[in-house]
Amino acid sequence: MKIAVIGAGIVGASATYHLAKWGHEVTVIDNQERGQATAHAAGIICPWLSKRRNKVWYELAKNSAAFYPELSEELAGVKIESGYKQVGTLALRAREESLISLFDLAIERRKTAPTMGEIKLLNEEEVRERFPLVKPGFGAVFVSGGGRVRGGQIRDALLQGAAQNGITQIFETAKLTAEGALFAGEKEVPYDRLVLSAGAFLPKLMEPLGYKAQVLAQKGQIITMTFDQKTDDWPVILPPATKSIVPFNDGEIMLGATHEKEAEFDLEKTEAGYREIVTELSTFIHLENALKSDMSVGTRPYTPDFAPFIGQVGQEPIFVANGLGASGLTTGPFVGKLLAESATSEKTSMDIARFDPAPYITKF
Ligand SMILES: Cc1cc2nc3c(=O)[nH]c(=O)nc-3n(C[C@H](O)[C@H](O)[C@H](O)COP(=O)(O)OP(=O)(O)OC[C@H]3O[C@@H](n4cnc5c(N)ncnc54)[C@H](O)[C@@H]3O)c2cc1C
Repeated sequence: MKIAVIGAGIVGASATYHLAKWGHEVTVIDNQERGQATAHAAGIICPWLSKRRNKVWYELAKNSAAFYPELSEELAGVKIESGYKQVGTLALRAREESLISLFDLAIERRKTAPTMGEIKLLNEEEVRERFPLVKPGFGAVFVSGGGRVRGGQIRDALLQGAAQNGITQIFETAKLTAEGALFAGEKEVPYDRLVLSAGAFLPKLMEPLGYKAQVLAQKGQIITMTFDQKTDDWPVILPPATKSIVPFNDGEIMLGATHEKEAEFDLEKTEAGYREIVTELSTFIHLENALKSDMSVGTRPYTPDFAPFIGQVGQEPIFVANGLGASGLTTGPFVGKLLAESATSEKTSMDIARFDPAPYITKF
């Protein structure tokens, strides 16, 4: 089948990878928006300790986290490095009761999520052995299966994997007409099925087709600090806060991010954003010895009820996945696979009836 994919963030890259692997003729079009969420994500893959009450989301996130090691191994098998690493996660807490209740939750959740691996309660000293910059006063629940990945690296790995099976990549803005014709720049792109993975930019893309897509844009600012430390194997830190601490190799630690709904597509780095992140996270770790500090800004796609959607648009040959919000790097590769399965009428790896796009994609 001829399949055109619009948008090559994490969702589109994964859909492209799977479609190409299954032998379809894939054209992927991406206009390299500066605010692409995937390129700016912090890269935490640890959904199991979330207190979000949405069970449908949790099932998706759990399956998605389990998919990462499998995908990473599959890519390694064709000599592509995904960058995904299970360095473990430290969920910091100051109070004994909070630690114990989180530990109990982790043990309960592991019954259906073996990817979580080993779960341990750590005291202050044990925490600082694993992450020397943590300030005194915090114990942690350690989850060995927690992972981290750079959004840009896993995106490129998937596109590289897709290219091994032959794809056409076009770096242009895709436009749809009222009749459903697809143009990349001036050139018409024929298709049997259309896959839309345009992130926060979906409403603009679908408007000429006569559809209103209820996808909103949220600005996220994130800081990368460099320390004179060997951080390669340091775990991710989830503090009791809205922000997180994600170490990568060679002393780099990502700190973030802000959640600015009103700012939507704005890509300005702000002093207020910087202060918000540093003030919140310096409660938990020492940041004063950073050698270097950079900021970047991305645009998260989310829906009014924060739920993702995946599947066919009515009876049209159009398939869409979106609204992944703050956990889209976690769910993105698996959602991309589900999207590819639904677009090719394959049996989906999980039931996606609960993610029906209908409430979010309506006719004008
Ligand atoms: C600062 C920040 C930190 C984050 N941290 C985490 C984290 O730690 N863990 C986690 O799980 N998630 C995290 N996220 C969320 C995650 O990054 C997003 O949910 C996810 O990347 C969304 O992927 P997407 O493919 O739907 O959209 P995007 O990555 O935005 O990709 C959409 C693509 O479509 C292209 N496009 C749009 N319209 C067109 C068109 N008309 N023609 C051609 N191309 C088009 C754009 O150029 C873009 O490349 C974070 C996000 C941000 C911003």
